[in-house]
Amino acid sequence: VEENNENVNGHVAGSVPRGKEPEWDDNIGYFIKKRLCVWCHLPNGQWGLGKIQETFGDEATISLLSGTVVKVSTAELLPANPDILEGVDDLIQLSYLNEPSVLHNIKHRYAQDLVYSKAGPVLIAVNPFKEIPIYGNEILTSYKQKAKDSPHVYAIADAAYNEMMRDEKNQSIIISGESGAGKTETAKHAMQYLAAFGCGNDGMEYRILQTNCILQAFGNAKTSRNNNSSRFGKLIEIHFTPSGKIRGAKIQTYRLNLRMASEYKYLNQSECLLVDGVDDGAEFHKLVDALDIVQICKDDQEQAFAMLAAVLWLGNISFQVIDNGNHVEVLANEAVENAARLINCSAQDLVLALSTHKIQAGEDFIAKKLTMQKAIDRRDALAKFIYARLFEWLVVQINKSVEVGELSTGRSISILDVYGFESFKNNSFEQFCINYANERLQQHFNRHLFKLEQEEYEEDGINWTKVDFEDNQECLNLFEKKPLGLLSLLDEESNIPNATDLTFANKLKQYFNDNPCFKGERGRAFGVCHYAGEVVYDTNGFLEKNRDPMHSDFIHLLSSSGCQLPKPASLSCKSGGLESSMQSVGTKFKVDESQLFKLMHQLEKTTPHFIRCIKPNAKQFPGQYEDDLVSQQLRCCGVLEVVRISRYGYPTRMTHQEFAGRYGFLLLETNVSWDPLSMSVAILKKFNFLPEMYEVGYTKVYLRMGQEPEHISLMLLL
Ligand code: ATP
Ligand code: MG
Repeated sequence: VEENNENVNGHVAGSVPRGKEPEWDDNIGYFIKKRLCVWCHLPNGQWGLGKIQETFGDEATISLLSGTVVKVSTAELLPANPDILEGVDDLIQLSYLNEPSVLHNIKHRYAQDLVYSKAGPVLIAVNPFKEIPIYGNEILTSYKQKAKDSPHVYAIADAAYNEMMRDEKNQSIIISGESGAGKTETAKHAMQYLAAFGCGNDGMEYRILQTNCILQAFGNAKTSRNNNSSRFGKLIEIHFTPSGKIRGAKIQTYRLNLRMASEYKYLNQSECLLVDGVDDGAEFHKLVDALDIVQICKDDQEQAFAMLAAVLWLGNISFQVIDNGNHVEVLANEAVENAARLINCSAQDLVLALSTHKIQAGEDFIAKKLTMQKAIDRRDALAKFIYARLFEWLVVQINKSVEVGELSTGRSISILDVYGFESFKNNSFEQFCINYANERLQQHFNRHLFKLEQEEYEEDGINWTKVDFEDNQECLNLFEKKPLGLLSLLDEESNIPNATDLTFANKLKQYFNDNPCFKGERGRAFGVCHYAGEVVYDTNGFLEKNRDPMHSDFIHLLSSSGCQLPKPASLSCKSGGLESSMQSVGTKFKVDESQLFKLMHQLEKTTPHFIRCIKPNAKQFPGQYEDDLVSQQLRCCGVLEVVRISRYGYPTRMTHQEFAGRYGFLLLETNVSWDPLSMSVAILKKFNFLPEMYEVGYTKVYLRMGQEPEHISLMLLL
């Protein structure tokens, strides 16, 4: 967050430059004249609410609600909303749309445990960090029966379900937000809603819900930002029958780069083995129950736990230096014995794999001893590798248990829970991959909420003042362009034998010197201007991590062991070409057959519903709301722009044929020669639709919010 504070006063991604918005300019004069309540920017960077006492030239004296009096430039003032609008459900109801008003509205609601708000079509969910009684069957039912319509994740799930049933079109619920913002919890609530209403009589929905527990147990870890942080991205696709009952599900996980082992550093180095309020014993029982429910047999469960133990024992293996400190050998102790036994290989093979590196010399292979750092890296790489296989294997087992058979078209709801944008003091390859994925998702969000919408207005020739939004296409190009994009160059450099992270960084600086989204930094570092702010990456380890080398020795070790877990896909490749057949991590992310590409392609075929989770404070405490932290997150997702488009846009649209077909009968004197467009115009005129509430395009009638078909039918028929 600190990294983005500099943005507070300037123009930021996802916001309109202050003062450019006509409403603000038009109104502030009136506000000054009437001495109304305004927002002003205080020297500490915060927003203050107060009344204008007097103005002198372009300076105003403001008496803040806190009692202090400040002098600020009138150009910096923004109109405040009347008290009556305090805490509105949907930000589009605010008379004055500006950052402090939006921030204040969400804060006001949060203080009353109203953690959900709408920003037009987008649901904003602020993490309460405490249990609040807004979930469960009773509330779920009231949303289903439409007895409640206040913003809620249930309402989003309900809308997705209804649209799927009505349009026979696949839907998606895309949940984003930074680590600890509440994405996974929100996804679980959405799943609970769908499970409750799609419940058949085969218990499938129950099995699907249990998958959360298993994936969390193996795929989450405590981090400094979240006690239960997902270390994988997840897309769960829930399929329904024509009558709306759950048929089954399919889960895809996206693991970036394996961070599990290093995050645990194998558990004891974290100096944090307990989390307040978490009973590990009870959680473990829940996990075993869930494994039973998804029908993972006891033998397999045992095997899975054995692999976990192997990973932990591997972490305890240590090395001692020999050859005057140049090389190492493995210290023989119980860790080696136990790890080998659990992996089901001989201790000797394990020792060799960890301390030597096989090099081909002519026909033969010779074992070369490793240095301390190389040996440690290798041990950790093996642990990560085993953990990753274990996780993949679990996902395969779970999918078998909830399998749908033939996939239905048009009757599925996919829930996406992925890692949000990350910007730390030190950013490495992991952040580079995560932020690239987020850049792609942002493009999806922009396309649906800004681009497609406005393009349609323009093409249909209606009167529309374009709402600016921060298009991130240029940043995406910086990553994706071939052959000159960050990812292509990374792959290229990873394949050059004596290339280093520094040569890579220098190459980037050479090629992207003039690219506005790129910033050359000193040494190995470079910066990227992401939609959510600038991030400086240190290329240390980029090439190595992108190569993600799984030494053939390991693969050999595991494939020849009696280890029960499925062998990695690459093991089935012909030996010899193993390493070259393995895709690099960065590329796995990008090119056409990449996971990310497939994900985006799959999402494009659905009607999206967006949920933006907000983390109100960095400490994970209930009741604390840090203005800066929240405003930075709201800016990142372009909340102001979404609200503006929804308020001035036309969410309801019908082709002239549809409109005339539906309401044409109300025109008593129809002229048979009338075309649908003339009929539409005649209907709108005859029933005195206010001119500001609609637009007539070449092909469609566009109606403002609040003019949904049900309302029109009522209006016209009354
Ligand atoms: P990450 O990206 O690290 O996986 P996340 O966005 O998935 O983070 P969650 O794990 O969903 O974050 O939420 C973090 C914690 O916040 C939860 O463990 C829970 O304690 C709390 N939390 C989130 N949402 C809610 C909610 N709706 N009600 C109560 N507590 C919540
Ligand atoms: Mg999560």
